Amino acid sequence: MEELVALCKRRGFIFQSNEIYGGLQGLYDYGPLGVELKNNLKQSWWRSMVFDRDDVEGLDASILTKPSVLKFSGHQDTFTDPLIDCKNCKARWKADQLKSSNCPSCGSDDLTEPRPFNLMFKTAVGPVEDKESFAYLRPETAQQIFTNFKNVIDSTSKNLPFGIAQIGKAFRNEITPRNFIFRVREFEQMELEFFVNPGSDEEWHKKWVDLRVKWWKEQGVGQENMELYDVPSKELAHYSKATVDIMYRFPHGLEELEGIANRTDFDLGSHSKNQKELNIKAKVMSNNKSNSRLAIQDTDSKKWVVPYVIEPSAGVDRGVLAVLNEAYKTEELTDGKSRIVLALRPHLSPIKGAVIPLKKNHQGLVGLASKIKKDLQKLGLGRILLENSGNIGKSYRRHDEIGTPLCITVDFESLDDNSVTVRNRDTMKQKRIKIAKLKDSLTDILK
Ligand code: ATP
Repeated sequence: MEELVALCKRRGFIFQSNEIYGGLQGLYDYGPLGVELKNNLKQSWWRSMVFDRDDVEGLDASILTKPSVLKFSGHQDTFTDPLIDCKNCKARWKADQLKSSNCPSCGSDDLTEPRPFNLMFKTAVGPVEDKESFAYLRPETAQQIFTNFKNVIDSTSKNLPFGIAQIGKAFRNEITPRNFIFRVREFEQMELEFFVNPGSDEEWHKKWVDLRVKWWKEQGVGQENMELYDVPSKELAHYSKATVDIMYRFPHGLEELEGIANRTDFDLGSHSKNQKELNIKAKVMSNNKSNSRLAIQDTDSKKWVVPYVIEPSAGVDRGVLAVLNEAYKTEELTDGKSRIVLALRPHLSPIKGAVIPLKKNHQGLVGLASKIKKDLQKLGLGRILLENSGNIGKSYRRHDEIGTPLCITVDFESLDDNSVTVRNRDTMKQKRIKIAKLKDSLTDILK
């Protein structure tokens, strides 16, 4: 973990947030390369969820959430962690962090009983701060998918099964954020709510577990580093009938990367008006004052059905940590030296190709290099960088460390023969190719 954290800081992937004022615990900022990597991971998810399927639509809903939404979702009452205080040193712990009855910080056994601590952040909406104005920062992106269920079906004429996908920030006031970007207080989620006919939910649950494992493998996460955890019933969230967690061997241990839950008809049922008429199977909160019936009319029987929901919910930040961990390698070279290489899947690499003129600021070389950069950039395959550093060896090392799949060197011969040297990150092999062929090389490697 230390090596990854150091690389992230040195090369501009991830920084401690508010660092110049001493930092703010549990928050991180994504730097110039981190933002590209994170965007690429999100894009890959969006492509597989929305573009590659015709049964999923996207959404981007608000973060600030009305308390009634989170009351009827059950979060106001149950979204808590057990908090224990050490009366001696005042340290605070989540109960499951204590391995004995002593404080891990000072060793004292003078600890409080665990008490529920609600993880949701509150804020005020509008200029007057009172009990009417308070709102929550959403603790998951899911709820606004449920509250928009009717808007989406009315505007897209979807029939079951279909899904709504969303990527966005979520906030949890974790008692002890830890392990770099693994457990933070502000993070991003990629969530799909997939609505199915009751009765077909268990089959869809299995299908989604398989699809999600396959997707993580396509992002470079090794099967050998993933394990499925069937969450025991006493640990299930209040809305869940069954949950399978995809666990990943993070540098600090085996922990949850993504959860795939069968949320039944709990959420749509809870947010619906006239619940009695709807034959909801899950035990929902009653007396809802919402003005909407979150159900769908069966095209044949004309009966109103409250769909069951399968929810694959993945953390973007945990995903970034997993793909960085998988990609980070130190390799011994034949000349006795070693190199650090970030063998990211090329579609995730922050920079797809670096165009490097052999001599810094040389008019002819830089002119040709910038023309190549512009032409490749137009292909829309991701970021192409003009690297006018004049030091080829150093540039190769830097681009190995940040995971750039191709380095393209423009030398004096290039001015005459319209060819460049292309170096492959993984094999370190160099090939002379025509400039006109660069497009194919880049497209091939990004496949
Ligand atoms: P954990 O048990 O690790 O606290 P959770 O079961 O509460 O996680 P979910 O509510 O299932 O998590 O959220 C879905 C996903 O959101 C998780 O699989 C994880 O990737 C991500 N996530 C949840 N909490 C955090 C956090 N504090 N920091 C970063 N990512 C998080």
